[in-house]
Amino acid sequence: MTRLIFLGAPGAGKGTQAQTLAHHRNIPHISTGDILRQAMQRQTPLGVKAQDYVSRGELVPDELVNDLVEERLDEPDVEHGWILDGFPRKVSQASFLDELLQQKHSDRNVRVINLEVPDDVLMARLLGRGRADDNEEVIRRRLEVYREQTAPLIDYYRDRQQLVCVNGNQSLEEVTAELLDVIDS
Ligand code: AMP
Repeated sequence: MTRLIFLGAPGAGKGTQAQTLAHHRNIPHISTGDILRQAMQRQTPLGVKAQDYVSRGELVPDELVNDLVEERLDEPDVEHGWILDGFPRKVSQASFLDELLQQKHSDRNVRVINLEVPDDVLMARLLGRGRADDNEEVIRRRLEVYREQTAPLIDYYRDRQQLVCVNGNQSLEEVTAELLDVIDS
């Protein structure tokens, strides 16, 4: 059973690696960012509510993303595992997820991968990506939000002995190989 959470700054390669691993393991890759972007594109009620926050690089309020994740983890395809990418992004979301998983599974064997990448590399990657929320000012804000709100999760999960750190500043293939080692161990 593979249940993984990807931590790591914007640009660390979470999305790419999560997608590759999910494919390898034939389990769903659940990206809250992707779900929000799709909702915004379709202008669903969720998308309309999220738009302003996402375009400014701020976090969307907990109640929106928590509900979204709770619903997604009720789908039948998560039975054999899942990879969460971009959630939780702050301590309040992590506690919510802890409780949710306690209700759902008797074993809570979830591993948390922290993809480590130096700041200058993150900036260069994000500027090269060209997503709507990837202009320099918004990128700076997203990195700030990451440091203030998401980085504390590293200690949160280290304290719970769930954390695994992987060097994200290697080729895509090298990172994938290390991650596969981690999930097989
Ligand atoms: P990502 O694709 O993970 O970089 O997410 C893009 C944007 O979606 C973020 O900058 C936030 O505005 C929003 N977002 C994604 N996941 C979350 C989350 N767990 N909590 C709050 N906002 C989120």
